[in-house]
Amino acid sequence: MMNILVVEDEKKVAALIQQGLREAGYQVETAESPTLAREAMRTQRFDLMILDVMLPDQSGMDFAKELRIGGHRGFILMLTALSTTKDKIQGLDAGADDYLSKPFEFEELLARVRALFRRKIDDKAQLKNGELIMDLIGRWVTREGIRIDLTTKEFTLLELFLRNVDRVLDRNAIARQVWGTDFDPDSNVIDVYVNHLRKKLDVPFPRKILKTVVGQGYVLSKLE
Ligand code: CA
Repeated sequence: MMNILVVEDEKKVAALIQQGLREAGYQVETAESPTLAREAMRTQRFDLMILDVMLPDQSGMDFAKELRIGGHRGFILMLTALSTTKDKIQGLDAGADDYLSKPFEFEELLARVRALFRRKIDDKAQLKNGELIMDLIGRWVTREGIRIDLTTKEFTLLELFLRNVDRVLDRNAIARQVWGTDFDPDSNVIDVYVNHLRKKLDVPFPRKILKTVVGQGYVLSKLE
């Protein structure tokens, strides 16, 4: 099920989009401002944000920029009354994946939403690091063609490493992404899970890629 968040302060427009997208089979929530959107994102993951530019407490442009800097990976479709080429470029530079100027026909919005989700399935279904492949839809992992069976948590942990190849992840970052907020920072659960993952991912192969960086955290090295 694709989750969509509509960030729009004009209630009528938001309600119309929500209703139309729900009828098309999507799960849709609305937020009237970036502040409320942030709140909604704390408890739910959204695959797509439909983001108005003129909003009460922060512009959609700035909000999109901030989300991308924070590592937000969901799609952003920007909605705005501004429609010059310069505005469009600005929106795309801010991190939007697509852009629709108001007023628009709902059918066009729906077509763009569909196109974005098709892109998701094409581009984002698999994560690769050399011969290590993770299929996010089939939920399987192979290295050099050999299947690696992982538990749900190990899978999520490896997904995080694969999205951050060659980047050192400290325990706090791992805890936040994999275990969420209710996590005891003094526990050694991360080290335990990394060790489980390492046994499955690295032990059978000559090249070791999941490394400990003493005093900093862990890193998954790039495989050529
Ligand atoms: Ca607005």
